[in-house]
Amino acid sequence: MMMEQYQLVMPKFVYSGTNSLEKIADIITREKAKKVMVFTGKEILKIGICDKVFEVIRECGADYDVISDIRPEPGTVDVEKVLKQLNQSDGELVVAVGGGSVMDMAKLCAAMKGASYTIHQLLEDNSIMENGLPTVMVPTTCGTGSESTFNSIVAVESKQLKVGIVNTNMMADYVILDSSMIAGLPKHIVASTGVDALAHAVECFTSNRANPFSDLVAKEASKLIFENIVKSYHEPGNMEAKTNMLRAAFLAGVAIASSGTTAVHALSYPLGGKYHIPHGISNAILLAPVMRYNMAACEERLAILADTVSPGGIARSNKEKAEEIVKRIEEIVRDTHIPSSLSEYNVGKEDLDQLVASAFEVKRLLNNNRKELTKEDIKNIYLEIL
Ligand SMILES: [Zn+2]
Repeated sequence: MMMEQYQLVMPKFVYSGTNSLEKIADIITREKAKKVMVFTGKEILKIGICDKVFEVIRECGADYDVISDIRPEPGTVDVEKVLKQLNQSDGELVVAVGGGSVMDMAKLCAAMKGASYTIHQLLEDNSIMENGLPTVMVPTTCGTGSESTFNSIVAVESKQLKVGIVNTNMMADYVILDSSMIAGLPKHIVASTGVDALAHAVECFTSNRANPFSDLVAKEASKLIFENIVKSYHEPGNMEAKTNMLRAAFLAGVAIASSGTTAVHALSYPLGGKYHIPHGISNAILLAPVMRYNMAACEERLAILADTVSPGGIARSNKEKAEEIVKRIEEIVRDTHIPSSLSEYNVGKEDLDQLVASAFEVKRLLNNNRKELTKEDIKNIYLEIL
């Protein structure tokens, strides 16, 4: 029998558990870095989440500089600006402390350090990217999974669309999953990033590129999220639930790196690019409707997921199980108070054609969707969530 090829690409070292942030000292020694470039966001810097990182760097006698001017959902102009700062520095190791936007920017700029090509050339041809500075990812949300993927999402202003740059040279060398970093995360961000991670797991499991490696991690991530997201949202002090969410987000990212997301993310990018709806929210709004639309093509896969997240259920048909898991996804979105439609984002019927045209361009992800979506299908899904 012919077996299809598939791959598992992962960070070299993944540290988890209490005080794992201290591992930064070992990493600095291992990389013989005299100067560390810390990438973070203004807000994270202000509330002191990076202080412990700075302390560890100082204690091992290294120097550091901070790049904190990273806007959420950055565009090509932001990349050029940050890359210039990095190119002017003598940093030898990049440490990213933040959510998806910070980590994506850090991976991209670390790989592009000193590059002879521009971000626009890279967008035309992802394969020209070479290896750059070593990177350490320290996620401060529980969802994007950027720490375990080799993708970087950039908003292309002229197209009003977010585009994914994909190259294995962006895979992080080190990941630190320290739950103290998400202890004080605002609950609406726990919710939106957590449902983003759930979308990663469910999309990868139902993707055309799903394989035994991605299935393993997508199933575990789904189970962890179903069991912990509502708890993490309603009980901010429940560190066990939050630790599980951090691990789930990482595993769902591993699933992306081996399989790939599908139509939920494809239809989500134009909503982020043009209307600046946060990534986690647009995915949360789209996840159940897209899975319902896909159901006939993914019934068995969704049924396996249903059995994974609630094992031992009474024997039912695959169709019933698939319907149940989509219903449970809707419940999670409702219970964590994420909007379930675009009504508060001023997206109108007159915007539909443009949205459909933009989403239809995201072939990289639409090709992964088991149900082939026509422009008419995409329009129907958008109509449902208006
Ligand atoms: Zn996502």
